[in-house]
Amino acid sequence: MWNTIIKEFEKTDKSIKNFKNSLSPVEETREKITVKCQSKYAYDFLNKNKYLEKINNIAKALFDENTEVCFIVAKDEDIQLEFNFENNKNTNKNNKLLEQNENYESYTFDNFISGPSNATVYHAAQAIAKNPGTGYNPFFIFGDSGLGKTHIIHAIENYIIQNKHKKVYYTTAMEFTNDYVKAIENKSTNEFKENIIKNDVLLVDDVQFLSGKTGTQNEIFYIFNQFYDKKKQIVITSDKHVNEINDIDDRLRSRFGMGVILDITPPEYETRVAIVKKKSELFDVKIDEQVVDFIAMNLKNNVREIEGALKTLKISKEFIGNSIIDLKFAEKILKDIIKKKPADIDSIIKTVSAATKVKPSDIVSTKRTKGISLSRQIAIYLSRKYTSKTYKEIGEKFGGRDHSTVITSISNIEKMILDDEQVAKLINKISRDIEASNKNL
Ligand code: ADP
Ligand code: MG
Repeated sequence: MWNTIIKEFEKTDKSIKNFKNSLSPVEETREKITVKCQSKYAYDFLNKNKYLEKINNIAKALFDENTEVCFIVAKDEDIQLEFNFENNKNTNKNNKLLEQNENYESYTFDNFISGPSNATVYHAAQAIAKNPGTGYNPFFIFGDSGLGKTHIIHAIENYIIQNKHKKVYYTTAMEFTNDYVKAIENKSTNEFKENIIKNDVLLVDDVQFLSGKTGTQNEIFYIFNQFYDKKKQIVITSDKHVNEINDIDDRLRSRFGMGVILDITPPEYETRVAIVKKKSELFDVKIDEQVVDFIAMNLKNNVREIEGALKTLKISKEFIGNSIIDLKFAEKILKDIIKKKPADIDSIIKTVSAATKVKPSDIVSTKRTKGISLSRQIAIYLSRKYTSKTYKEIGEKFGGRDHSTVITSISNIEKMILDDEQVAKLINKISRDIEASNKNL
């Protein structure tokens, strides 16, 4: 029965062949087919990507309305857990393996990829780590989320601890606030302060969090001065420039800005390629060059997202063993993470114009010549497909047509795709062009 299900599945979705080996039937009756799944990761992955649902639907269609496919997770002989597909929507337990790479010990200078977007910060941070307190003080790093601020500040910490044997106090502004509140509750604010001040280096991550918290700001101000006056190094990170943090005491703002302020910007393509390669090594995920390019091309603004993509691929490794992940597989696995950006109507009109040799101005005109109409209807159809615009908005773009005209155009094209091979081919080609240009945004 199981093999029949898989065969049926393969008719519509060949990707199941990647997972076939992870699944084996242990019991088959008309009411219940029990399938052993090699690991919890495999199970979670198949569940999340709706494979299990589909398998169940196929079983019901093939055998009996009441046939149920149950999945158990078992490593070879020892059966550990039984999952009932219907009520197990919970996939959040599969992250242990992935979290192991998120310890701060791996946040070192060696593991940080430097390129033009972050080189200044990277070099300044190294200089500070080598000679804390002598140069840039305080060192203020700002930049959007996921660009490596926390990594850099921990790299400074790790370097100083290992090579300078100095005492470093690292905290986030949020942690600091919570600890301070606790100290107030316990009437131990002096101890709290002393405990920080006795260190040689002060690192405060994410100070934008101090916004509006007057009491905590006063406390930080005091501590800051203690370090500063003794020429002890201070490093601060924030997601905004110090002048753009709202509701922060002017005294503190000017202290934060007294040293050097550097920003970290999204990595350029070449740096992203190096990051993808480095992280795939660290995470032990084998991907081919095309996958490196695919990830670097599509995830541009946040290194955390690049890591997320690689971790997702790592889960899928459970299914393909040690073979190298190729582009086709990666595209399928990452389709939710790498959502193609919606195209805009103007660029769709341009692409249609290039393929049909009808001028963009004619496409949006009221002319009704056959070639022009067809080209306009194709552009309308593709605008609906590739953008999230409403019929009304599309109509407005195409010479102020009303929404019923838009709907008619779309259904005309849908019919033509079925009846007219040439039109179908043309639309296919234009679709590919649109998708290709989206990738390069
Ligand atoms: P931020 O604190 O700016 O939000 P993080 O330092 O937490 O960002 O970075 C998010 C993840 O991306 C971390 O795991 C970090 O190791 C990684 N990362 C960011 N930039 C780089 C880089 N240039 N090289 C290597 N890893 C990076
Ligand atoms: Mg951070």
